[in-house]
Amino acid sequence: MSKSKQCEAVRVVVRCRPFSRKEESQGCEDVLQIDDRLGQITIRNPKAPPDEPMKVFTFDSVYGWDSKQVDIYDDAVRPLVESVLKGFNGTTFAYGQTGTGKTHTMQGVSNDPEMRGIIPNSFQHIFTQISRTQNQKYLVRSSYMEIYQEEVRDLLCKDNNKKLELKENPDSGVYVRGLSSVVTKNATEIEHVMNIGNQSRSVGFTNMNERSSRSHAIFVITVECSEVGPDGEDHIRVGKLNMVDLAGSERQSKTGAKGKRLKEAAKINLSLSALGNVISALVNGKSTHIPYRDSKLTRLLQDSLGGNAKTVMIATVGPSHKDFEESLATLRYANRAKDI
Ligand code: ADP
Ligand code: MG
Repeated sequence: MSKSKQCEAVRVVVRCRPFSRKEESQGCEDVLQIDDRLGQITIRNPKAPPDEPMKVFTFDSVYGWDSKQVDIYDDAVRPLVESVLKGFNGTTFAYGQTGTGKTHTMQGVSNDPEMRGIIPNSFQHIFTQISRTQNQKYLVRSSYMEIYQEEVRDLLCKDNNKKLELKENPDSGVYVRGLSSVVTKNATEIEHVMNIGNQSRSVGFTNMNERSSRSHAIFVITVECSEVGPDGEDHIRVGKLNMVDLAGSERQSKTGAKGKRLKEAAKINLSLSALGNVISALVNGKSTHIPYRDSKLTRLLQDSLGGNAKTVMIATVGPSHKDFEESLATLRYANRAKDI
């Protein structure tokens, strides 16, 4: 593995999904060109004259429509999870317009081994590593929550409509008061936890896609390891992994949202732009102030973004000319997160 992959604090990758059947039948044009060797993605404005230069973006990796779930995991996420097992914190999140593959990338299809996304793949990875160790004792806990309209709900609690508060204390930092934390002993158990949370996400809402496009879902795994040191004492290290399926990044003002919808949109955009600002402040290194406090999402992720923590951003885009504006906005957002 290259040195950079191990050491980078923020890694930014882009994944392009294939055309949908509908797009294919409508004869949509492909405006994206991907060079996975160079990590470059070229985007063409379908309305621009043919001689206008195309925009080229370079990322740590780019993945085309035929990329496999396991490629994304092994390449982009595996090193992050390795560092969590060593006691560091880490965050990976999928950012992009609704319908571009955030949930596919994070979650995937659980009953098809080849289609399993990052979250189930991390379960397998973590428990396989643990089963190979001999002198350490591990405790794996998970939480699953959702931020909707700047309100936090516990996806693992029966009373999942209860709004939870963010609290802060000098020792443990920011935490969610009353959030469930479930201990699991193997991959099957933690998968069950994930499934319960996923079901709870859709309960009470007529349109799952609409809800998921407006809320952030955060799966948190805490890995605690204790080992008897040469001094005969117990040494404990704790790593935390946040895996986030963000709300859709599409600009709601363009969709003609009004009233309640528009207010909701403003809150979604608040968290997404706050996240962009935090990461951009972290990578440019000149800012003395990192604006974590600007949103619930960034407050929650505070101890897992920056410092010793590692971050992997996965920006998802669609290939169609109809999505040109949104794809360009996503590439610009991702581009801000790169060290320059
Ligand atoms: P989002 O969560 O960003 O709204 P989804 O993950 O629900 O998007 O993806 C929208 C549709 O596109 C789904 O039917 C999904 O299966 C499909 N899809 C997304 N990414 C890929 C991919 N890389 N390969 C194949 N199908 C994909
Ligand atoms: Mg989704």
